[in-house]
Amino acid sequence: MNIILLGPPGAGKGTQAGFLVEGRDMIQLSTGDMLRAAKTSGTEMGKIVAEVMDKGELVTDEIVIGLIREKLEGDKKGGFIFDGFPRTLAQADALEELLKEFGEKLDVVIEMQVNDDVLVDRIVGRAAEAVAAGGTARADDNEESLKIRLMEYYKKTSPLIGYYHAKGNLKSIDGLGTIDEVKGAIARILDA
Ligand code: ADP
Repeated sequence: MNIILLGPPGAGKGTQAGFLVEGRDMIQLSTGDMLRAAKTSGTEMGKIVAEVMDKGELVTDEIVIGLIREKLEGDKKGGFIFDGFPRTLAQADALEELLKEFGEKLDVVIEMQVNDDVLVDRIVGRAAEAVAAGGTARADDNEESLKIRLMEYYKKTSPLIGYYHAKGNLKSIDGLGTIDEVKGAIARILDA
């Protein structure tokens, strides 16, 4: 099974992807994680993406599509969870082409619905927790970058909801429940 977890920043995509990796032996492909790894690697690409990411803007389609392509070449185990990708219609088209090329298909797109107030609270909370634990907050987990991340989401990513709905792939769930409730809702979709 290959699935997309779609939702705004702070919707809980990463948390739920983690459960699917554990419980269903799926492979999480988080472009956010890949880009953060690139950022710390000190490569030329890392330097280019760092500035864009920290501001809260989207990295170019070309870069993220390249990162995803590399991962599709590896072992696919219980299937792929696309987390934070696609984020633009161009990325959605590229994903369709890539899956075709690798003899795979997209089974379902799960949209996690959460309202903005909760998102801001969650992200501000996540930053505070990281600092309290002696670490540092993500460079883009501050109010200014968060505002831009939300605008980028509504402008460029949320059109994917209509797109996948029209294709017949979309299932929407309430992302406001407890972590367990959301986990249950996702499990019901995947087991159906
Ligand atoms: P969020 O919690 O905001 O959903 P992510 O970890 O998914 O965070 O992404 C962090 C940042 O990485 C984004 O704000 C963006 O700059 C960059 N990024 C991640 N995935 C993509 C993508 N598919 N296309 C463009 N930029 C991306």
